[in-house]
Amino acid sequence: MEPRKRMERLAGELLRHQHLYYVLARPEISDAEYDRKLDELLRLEREYPQYASPNSPSRRVGSDLDGSFPERPHAVPVLSLDKLYDAGEAAQWLRKTAGACPGGAAFTVEEKIDGAAIVLYYEGGELSRALTRGDGVTGNDVSDNVRTIRQVPLRVGEPGSLAVRGEVYITRADFARFNAALPEKYANPRNLAAGSLRNLKSALTARVPLNFFAYEGFFAGESGGDHLEVLARLRGLGFRVNPRLGFFCDGNGRRRRALALFPEAHAAPLAGVEEYLGRRAAARAGVPYDIDGLVIKLTDLAMRRELGFTAHHPRWAMAYKFEAPQARTELLDVLVQVGRNGRVTPVAVLKPVALAGSTVTRATLHNQDYVDMLELGIGDQVSISKRGDVIPAVEEVLEKSAKRPSVYKLPELCPFCGSTLVREGGHHFCRNLDCPERRRRALGYFCAKDQMDIETLGEKTLAFLYEKGWVRTIPDIYSFDYSRLEGEEGFKERKIARIREGVDKSRERPFVRVLASLGFENLAAAVAAALIGHGFADIDTIIAAAARDDWQAFAAVDGVGETTARQLVAHFRDPQNLDLIARLRAAGLKFRAEGDAADRLDDSFAGQVWVITGSFARFEPRERAAEEIRRRGGRVAESVSSRTTHLLAGAHPGSKLAKAEKLKATVVSEDEFVALLGKRS
Ligand SMILES: [Zn+2]
Repeated sequence: MEPRKRMERLAGELLRHQHLYYVLARPEISDAEYDRKLDELLRLEREYPQYASPNSPSRRVGSDLDGSFPERPHAVPVLSLDKLYDAGEAAQWLRKTAGACPGGAAFTVEEKIDGAAIVLYYEGGELSRALTRGDGVTGNDVSDNVRTIRQVPLRVGEPGSLAVRGEVYITRADFARFNAALPEKYANPRNLAAGSLRNLKSALTARVPLNFFAYEGFFAGESGGDHLEVLARLRGLGFRVNPRLGFFCDGNGRRRRALALFPEAHAAPLAGVEEYLGRRAAARAGVPYDIDGLVIKLTDLAMRRELGFTAHHPRWAMAYKFEAPQARTELLDVLVQVGRNGRVTPVAVLKPVALAGSTVTRATLHNQDYVDMLELGIGDQVSISKRGDVIPAVEEVLEKSAKRPSVYKLPELCPFCGSTLVREGGHHFCRNLDCPERRRRALGYFCAKDQMDIETLGEKTLAFLYEKGWVRTIPDIYSFDYSRLEGEEGFKERKIARIREGVDKSRERPFVRVLASLGFENLAAAVAAALIGHGFADIDTIIAAAARDDWQAFAAVDGVGETTARQLVAHFRDPQNLDLIARLRAAGLKFRAEGDAADRLDDSFAGQVWVITGSFARFEPRERAAEEIRRRGGRVAESVSSRTTHLLAGAHPGSKLAKAEKLKATVVSEDEFVALLGKRS
């Protein structure tokens, strides 16, 4: 048989046997026979690498080469779920949601496994990529590692685009065994599962006994139907679907149909849900892996769409968490934080205490009302919890301090600028726009990993630049001449070069990040992504809508309510904000959404680092030349360094030309540049 055909046949057989063994636990051939086939395939792939598929079953063994985890956008944003901690409240939520569905509603109750969430994308029946949840808008591409998980199908009998969400997890027994052999131990099964997805060498991931359950599927071009049918279909395609499933609805016939799809399910009327939640919570230790709650989901997909989302959560699902982890400690002090929007937050300084796998030393106290409600004073013994996500909160005072039985009060003046704090609604605010703390926070927020990701401008560096008066506003980040740092303590040449590089690189951040980084209230990544997805694909469209006072246009976006819509109008009419946008635009930031490849022409400038100097006849402003370079895969830097490969020199080039010549960078005139642009790779 010709090698290519033989390889295809072997790959198909091996994938089928992997599915029989790892998913269905019904092997048809012996391990030795399996190994023999795999060895043959590996041999052929070495001999004919041109025929090896990225989804070959040989990928299951991973690679010893270092991988990387580039950020990629999710096709459908992955929102976190709203959480409740009481079975009664969860049952009440279900009744309320059912009440909003004319014609009756059905719900599934599924285990919330404490593992690592992952989204698998299939194209033409092949696993094309696997992303971590990330921030929900973009995730890290961990495809090579995920391909080693035997329970993840590499090929499926579904020709259209398919996205599958699920959980990668490890059983407690496997964790104990595997962790014991590791030189550096993981704290819990979840950390091991999540850590394994981020192994640089996929061969290491291949050794971890990881499991996978699929829990949501999105078939391209289909929006109606029923969640239970989707799960059954995923199962038919070879995915493992968790059989510990509850199904609740008031129609007998519907329950019978559900049981026909999932005979293992527990099916009962809506009124039975509270009892079921309580029973499952009590019995969770009997499940072989960690679960920290149950997820209640409406099954009707059209109804889901109708209910929609808040900015943070879908309205059609709820997580019932078994318990909020708690610990007892002492309140040592209260810090006053002032945020970039001026909001004052008292923060509890706690005697360090272990809670849910980490050491807690700080907890939010929200505002004065919260402190008053707790009757909280310094020196008190308190209980703290991690409700929902990761931010710890002070829950109650267990014992008042004997020495100072008082209740803490916020200061009257901003501790950073001395201006009088103003109370608005439940919160206090520093209203001074020039408050150094507010400015510092805005800079920190802008540079943060989730925003513009200028990691070389960390908190310390920003504080230093601020102190010196060099970087006080966001546009200063792009206009400051970082060579002024030369000779300053702690700023070696290499560090300065890295800062420049970080700043340059941030110009490539997509519009959605730029928009969220501006720091406007209620315009974080989720809303920014929703706006862009709805057709507000560039800043001018947004500004134009705001100028027309057209808040309704914003309110028509999924996840944007009237309050946020009106705020958006105010943000994008504010002259100070418009000035900020104009200056960042001039600095070369992206203010227009681009498809991954839509704006990218080719890779003819890939690997090149350009510096632009002088003035040009055809590229005014100069940013237009920079854009052409980036569209061809090149990078543009502010100043000439040893990394510079090309200098685009216009009229009156200045000192950069001499420096570039000294460093042997290629000097390109405007005419030569135009000729280069005409060439396609
Ligand atoms: Zn202040």
